Amino acid sequence: MVPQTVAAALAEAGRSMDVRGWVPGSAGNLSVRLNETAIAITRSGVHKGRLNAGTDIIAVNYQGEPFAEGQKPSAEALLHCQIYRLFPHAGAVLHGHSVAATVLSRLGPIIFSDYELLKAFGFSTHEVEVNLPVYKNDQDIPRLADLIEPHLQNEPPIGYVIAGHGLYAWGTNVEHALWRLEALEFLLSCELERRQIK
Ligand SMILES: [Zn+2]
Repeated sequence: MVPQTVAAALAEAGRSMDVRGWVPGSAGNLSVRLNETAIAITRSGVHKGRLNAGTDIIAVNYQGEPFAEGQKPSAEALLHCQIYRLFPHAGAVLHGHSVAATVLSRLGPIIFSDYELLKAFGFSTHEVEVNLPVYKNDQDIPRLADLIEPHLQNEPPIGYVIAGHGLYAWGTNVEHALWRLEALEFLLSCELERRQIK
């Protein structure tokens, strides 16, 4: 059900995230919108840097339920579904657990300003203050999705972080989502270093 090209693109993105240290252990999850009823997402408990395109990417519906019996999607599938439901242009969602996202999100609000790279998100100047929302971590994913929902609806962010956990980024396709994830991770790394120097 998941086209080979889609699975291969996700496996490649997983390798790219792994090289940068953003998916330690079995952390992180990656997905692609297939159509109006299905999403391709990584299977639960597999290493995202060593994805088997043939077996580790599975199809789920917009409630995060697998189409094939016995398959187990990522525990956070519902958060991916939520992004696709709320943002019609989202074609891929990437989530990793980088050191910068994990550490900074434990320290309170994350606001980027005076970074040239902010222009990667459509701002015309570096002279803006951009909030990267931080939500409290929760092992109850439906409850976490309910908490996040009104924020995503009312003020669509450039991405978001779950405190002490990791970063969610999305884009029109896998390449675009990876590009935005890279930009956000760069900003988080800069911010982490800036605070260490201060
Ligand atoms: Zn996670």
